[in-house]
Amino acid sequence: MSLFETQEIACPSCQHAQQVDVAFTLNASRRADLRDAIIDRSYQRFACEQCGAALRPEPHLTYLDIRRNQWILAKSVSDLAHWSAFETAARVIFDESYGDGAPAAAQATGADLQVRVVFGWSALREKLLIEAAGLDDVAVEYVKVLLFRALEQMPLADDAELRFEGLGDEGTLRFLWYVGASETPVEAVEAPRALYDLAVNDPEAWRTLRETLSAGPFVDMNRLLVPEEAAAA
Ligand SMILES: [Zn+2]
Repeated sequence: MSLFETQEIACPSCQHAQQVDVAFTLNASRRADLRDAIIDRSYQRFACEQCGAALRPEPHLTYLDIRRNQWILAKSVSDLAHWSAFETAARVIFDESYGDGAPAAAQATGADLQVRVVFGWSALREKLLIEAAGLDDVAVEYVKVLLFRALEQMPLADDAELRFEGLGDEGTLRFLWYVGASETPVEAVEAPRALYDLAVNDPEAWRTLRETLSAGPFVDMNRLLVPEEAAAA
């Protein structure tokens, strides 16, 4: 079951305030349409009732897909600085629902669920696309780090995000760069499959990097870029 609440949001263009229903629990287990809508970016999109501008409140929700073993706490891009606190929050919420604090039946369901924390719609969408492609998300982040390190200079703004988009010809990994919370890609990058295969094979020399990327539910190269902040969420 998915749960919604009514929120007042201000239009970024004309400041008009209006009430919209936003999800705080999304269960895609039996609702493939919810998952599809996140992937095609149509989910939770509104138009300003005064000026018609596009409105999309940032996610503050838990996403569940039992069939695909995904449980994801999705927060807004502006929460990224507090990723460490949200990892703790995710563990607490998950434990109450499917972990030690849950009834036995729920614990059985939870045993196979992969717990993740993401920031922003593009990051949530990316986790669904990685699963759909049958890839390991830790290895995908690994590839991103390698692509990132190969850059001679940062091509974009400080808040640029590299997100997995899908598989290309011969199994190449296609990525797009986004800036901050914007959902308009600014540049495409493709990584050879061999790079991903190398990451999956987990060479000894990269062990530390893999451990860092998979040290908690926030499996994202931003673990390396955004300093851990002790501030409470
Ligand atoms: Zn407006």
